[in-house]
Amino acid sequence: MSHEKNIESRRRFLKAAAGTAAVAAVIGTMPRLARAADLPHLAESDATAKALGYVEDANKSTDPKHTAGNNCANCQFYSGAPTGYGPCQLFPGKAVNAKGWCVSHATKKA
Ligand code: SF4
Repeated sequence: MSHEKNIESRRRFLKAAAGTAAVAAVIGTMPRLARAADLPHLAESDATAKALGYVEDANKSTDPKHTAGNNCANCQFYSGAPTGYGPCQLFPGKAVNAKGWCVSHATKKA
């Protein structure tokens, strides 16, 4: 094998390796996304949810600490999509309603 051919085959190998790494990086994020979507929804009747005054619909909260417009979607502990359900750091293993609210709400920093 000539020197140029050697360099060419090494280039091809490096390109293929870089492509594999990129695919692996994308696949690596998939189980995490799938898990977030599969999380069971937090029930208002859950003991911790009750203790923190969690409601599925922030507009229905009767808690005096609730401020209109505050909900899980704009809380710094929420890491889901702006609609539907997503994970909350305070309720590991459960998904909260983006429209929900609890007394631990802390407005997300822009
Ligand atoms: S901490 Fe924030 S995201 Fe979690 S339930 Fe309370 S308001 Fe929703």
